[in-house]
Amino acid sequence: MNKQSLSKIFAVIKVLFGTAAKKYPGFFVVEVIKTLATVGQPFVGILLSPLIIDEIAGGRDIKKMVIYAAAIIITEAILTIIIDRCNTVLNKYGERLSNYFVILIGKHAMELDFQLTEDKAVLEQIEKARTGMDWYSGGVHGIAEQVFMFLGNVFKIVGFITVIAIHAPLLLAVVAVCVVINVFFVTKRNKIELEAFAKLSKVNRLFGYFGWNIVDPRYGKDIRLYEAQGTMLDAWRSNTDKSNKHWKWQADTQFPYSLAEGILSVLRSVFAYFYVALLAIKGYYSVGTFSQLVASEGALDATLAGLVWNITEIVKRCNYAYEYVVFMNYPAAMVKGDKPVIKKPHAIEFKHVSFMYPGTEKKVLDDISIKIQPGEHLSIVGLNGAGKTTFIKLLCRLYDPTEGEILLDGVNIKEYDYKQYMEQFAPVFQDFKLFALTFRENIVFEEKDEELEELIKLVGLEEMVKKLDKGVDTNLFKFFDEEGVEPSGGEQQKLAIARALYKDSPVVILDEPTAALDPVAEYDIYRQFNTLVGGRSAFYISHRLSSCKFCDRIAVFHGGKIAEYGTHDELERIPGGIYAEMFEAQAKYYK
Ligand code: ADP
Repeated sequence: MNKQSLSKIFAVIKVLFGTAAKKYPGFFVVEVIKTLATVGQPFVGILLSPLIIDEIAGGRDIKKMVIYAAAIIITEAILTIIIDRCNTVLNKYGERLSNYFVILIGKHAMELDFQLTEDKAVLEQIEKARTGMDWYSGGVHGIAEQVFMFLGNVFKIVGFITVIAIHAPLLLAVVAVCVVINVFFVTKRNKIELEAFAKLSKVNRLFGYFGWNIVDPRYGKDIRLYEAQGTMLDAWRSNTDKSNKHWKWQADTQFPYSLAEGILSVLRSVFAYFYVALLAIKGYYSVGTFSQLVASEGALDATLAGLVWNITEIVKRCNYAYEYVVFMNYPAAMVKGDKPVIKKPHAIEFKHVSFMYPGTEKKVLDDISIKIQPGEHLSIVGLNGAGKTTFIKLLCRLYDPTEGEILLDGVNIKEYDYKQYMEQFAPVFQDFKLFALTFRENIVFEEKDEELEELIKLVGLEEMVKKLDKGVDTNLFKFFDEEGVEPSGGEQQKLAIARALYKDSPVVILDEPTAALDPVAEYDIYRQFNTLVGGRSAFYISHRLSSCKFCDRIAVFHGGKIAEYGTHDELERIPGGIYAEMFEAQAKYYK
């Protein structure tokens, strides 16, 4: 084991056990009780049975024998019951712990800087963290079992060694030599296994591909129409042959080492019996002690093997679980300040802002400068891909500009407390998501009825809600509730708007809020826009230019730049202007 994997193990144990102990300290108390009972168990027999044997061989006092036997049986029974009980409790804790860690991963994933959530490496890390804490490692429960077993085995080994050392120190020396030789054999075998695993994983992947695709109904049509059965089966067969060949290679190569291990074990046992028996015959100790030594030697052997297994398991499991540690420590992508922000109308300024998405070379925004006064309503228009949504993402600090700066009330937004800054914005993105909760929970996230009714009316969902038996307490979608409703795209959009308005942030952002609405609903939203938004600042992205009329100013995005900027009347009069042309083209349909 190298230094790196050792530090991984300590990191995993520290983080996992620390987190688990804070939430469920009882789990570790039970683990300790179980370990103590497990350590005690073999010693009951080892320490007490010689007394019975010597009594049989010598004293023949029935009363004493019965007392010893009873002591063994009762103590062992009590220890077994304790261990059993502990296991039941630990399994329950195990369930709770694994749920708890799934929640922690989810929580951390939601709190990550947004730009990281579009990063492939991060998405992979989330998946690795999840599976790493799953059956791969057995989670905290699986790892703790091995760690405590390891500690227990160390104590047992110390105990067995002590027993043997008192009466037959030479046996101990022989055992030690055998252990060293054995470690050599085991290492050899493990190496071969790893080599075979590396070779097999490719074969297994192919095996899975052919094996599964043959039975996957989605491939059914193509397999039949392109007569792929033969090819698939041949490929599968040849793959199976390869796989079998690797298994055979592994078994053949490992065989001499397994054989040597077996022979060594037999030789050691033979020596142990002869040596220990010889000392007993020579009268160094009683028959009882002889049986005690034989039992200790056997137990020591088994426990050493157990210890080796514990170590391999701990290394393996911690390696998987380490992905969780990596994920939870994922570095923040953004600098965050600590200046407080209060909810009030804000002056917003973009100063020479340029932006490229991480991992790309294209300037999606190119030297944007614009000032928005407190309470101003700005309409943003432009062709698809002009950078409108990106502009909003930068404003909401989901990403930081590549060049230039964004100021809120004259201060660079990086200097503000991130959470408080986020509270200033209530955006409805094009790809907004509603949750499979009730209407109420989707909008207000808590109970406050008066405002909720007002909002439902404002966004035009009153009719729909009235028709529902449970009104605003009806569940959306059918994930959790058979009787949940599936709102149409337009209804969902209205709900999303209501949710944004409820947030009561000084800046409202609607990114094509009417895309899924029918013309009547759209007209309603427009008509009520000023009531809806009130004195708040508003950013309004829309393809329908008629909606621009009720905004104070319009910014026309084109090729990552603000090509035109002004009021509707000003822009309409620019000869050959982008806005004037777009407006003219659309007006035809509305006239
Ligand atoms: P608009 O809202 O004006 O339609 P966007 O701001 O959504 O335009 O997109 C501007 C450009 O940025 C487009 O070319 C788009 O493909 C690109 N883009 C958007 N999101 C990402 C992303 N997460 N990663 C890389 N490129 C992106």
